[in-house]
Amino acid sequence: MSHSDNCLFCKIAAGAIPSRKVYEDGELFAFHDIHPAAPVHFLIIPKAHLASLAQVGPEDAGLLGRMMVLAPKLALEQGCNPYPKGGFRTVINTGDEGGQEVQHLHVHVMGGPRPWLKG
Ligand code: AMP
Ligand code: ZN
Repeated sequence: MSHSDNCLFCKIAAGAIPSRKVYEDGELFAFHDIHPAAPVHFLIIPKAHLASLAQVGPEDAGLLGRMMVLAPKLALEQGCNPYPKGGFRTVINTGDEGGQEVQHLHVHVMGGPRPWLKG
């Protein structure tokens, strides 16, 4: 599996840096954000290194689809309230102007009762 030597999220996916794991399969890894912006805030990442959404191509459509399909399932398991009164926010920051701080593709999933820290 491709990884980037100095990538924080590659190390987290490999278990080399500890995280509070939410989910893992052969392809994807999910873990709680270290600075939660909402009562529920976790990140879904591919185990293989992909720098951002700007690098994806048609070959990544299945992977991206599986990340999105996983989001609502894990959101409920982690305590987000059911749609439509509950729900959750999904965010993918891309590049400097997109507010991306960690250069390994990740989907933020945020939810739970408001108010939240951001938004
Ligand atoms: P972004 O700005 O979209 O790149 O988001 C990066 C997110 O990663 C931020 O919300 C950070 O709080 C989170 N983060 C950074 N380091 C860690 C870590 N070691 N474990 C869990 N989350 C982290
Ligand atoms: Zn990486």
